[in-house]
Amino acid sequence: MFEKILIANRGEIALRVIRAAREMGIQTVAVHSTADSDAMHVRMADESVCIGPPSGTDSYLSIPAIIAACEVTGAQAIHPGYGFLSENANFVQIVEDHDLAFIGPTAEHIRIMGDKITAKDTMRNLGVPCVPGSDGGVPTLSEAKKLGEEMGYPVIIKATAGGGGRGMKVAQNADEMEHAFMTARSEGKAAFGNDEVYIEKYLTTPRHIEIQVFGDGKGKAVHLGERDCSLQRRHQKVFEEAPGPSITPEERDRIGKVCADAVARIDYAGAGTIEFLYENGEFYFIEMNTRLQVEHPVTEVIFGVDLVREQIRVAEGLPMSFTQDDLVINGHAIEVRINAEKLPEFSPRPGTITQFHAPGGLGVRMDSALYDGYKIPPYYDSLIAKLIVHGRDRASALARLNRALSELIVDGVDTTVPLFHALLQEPDILSGEYNIHWLEHWLETNLQD
Ligand code: ADP
Repeated sequence: MFEKILIANRGEIALRVIRAAREMGIQTVAVHSTADSDAMHVRMADESVCIGPPSGTDSYLSIPAIIAACEVTGAQAIHPGYGFLSENANFVQIVEDHDLAFIGPTAEHIRIMGDKITAKDTMRNLGVPCVPGSDGGVPTLSEAKKLGEEMGYPVIIKATAGGGGRGMKVAQNADEMEHAFMTARSEGKAAFGNDEVYIEKYLTTPRHIEIQVFGDGKGKAVHLGERDCSLQRRHQKVFEEAPGPSITPEERDRIGKVCADAVARIDYAGAGTIEFLYENGEFYFIEMNTRLQVEHPVTEVIFGVDLVREQIRVAEGLPMSFTQDDLVINGHAIEVRINAEKLPEFSPRPGTITQFHAPGGLGVRMDSALYDGYKIPPYYDSLIAKLIVHGRDRASALARLNRALSELIVDGVDTTVPLFHALLQEPDILSGEYNIHWLEHWLETNLQD
């Protein structure tokens, strides 16, 4: 059993892990950059180690500094949170080489799923339905054009190493192919050091539905239903809910079983998310994330489970504490991502929080590292809080979200809160009728200066 774990992350997700560890009686070590000396995760952990200057590359992404912090503090395991090193197979290998435990899947699984072409091949072979597209990488523009003609436009060109919405370009017709192909390649090269791209049919009105899976690393796995994350801006999620308003219990059972069986067959360990586009009653795999997702709380609240606790247990070699039959959905949950950004352009707004009040009451969860007087540094992601509400059904969850948003106070910086007040007035949001393009269209007509 672990006595002490190190959290290689910051912000709300570091707090999330510290909380689970504390409930399990495990000591925690926070790491931080010099810009985060006063951060909440540093205050809340049992110990903390400064691992470098503000830039993420020199601190939260510095593998030697993180390993050294484990050695200095005697931490036995590392939880990576999401982002930063959470899907870095090389990091996992180094962690294991130092006889430390990584709280997450194996380096091999991270490597397979981190390359989107290999991930798609693997999933197809495991019986998971995929988006129609090229067979592997497409090395030249002429091949891309040929495929575009064969598949029919529109198509999407994707960097095989892509992530976070980067390295993806849509070509509506043959004329747009050259620009889309070259841009996806150069973005892939610049952001991920890999210019390989592949091509998929571009689905025009899908929803983004992702299945939460969990494996014990020894051939057993379960699914925890779906999350609908269709409300996106620039391929980034802003509002997530579970269960998905368009998914029937039969569809959930069917696709959930396909996913759980797939990860069981590869002995997957810990939390994972299998992402699909869903259109006309069909699921199409797009990628698998081999970590805890930002939006994991909506799943936790409807199933009444602690996914971080479960991750730690599995990393300790213990069995999962639930079976598929134990996992029963209770009600409906919604999460909104509150970013320090100014609308309508969503430009980052770091600064000092002059007043902060978190909403509370029945069915309200606030995952945030904010406090009065906190100075949001300009170096990292602009997510500052996740507000999660739980109701007995979708209508009561929406009413609760409205109520919780009206209690929330975040003064001193601009935030995306006004966006959610506005969305809650929209009939399509209230009825759950939206797809992955809905928000972009809405922003174009409603949020211009
Ligand atoms: P990333 O790894 O950058 O998050 P994904 O492959 O998960 O990229 O895709 C992110 C989003 O891009 C999806 O949720 C969806 O909105 C859009 N997208 C991806 N593939 C397609 C496709 N074939 N057709 C239509 N939209 C797509």
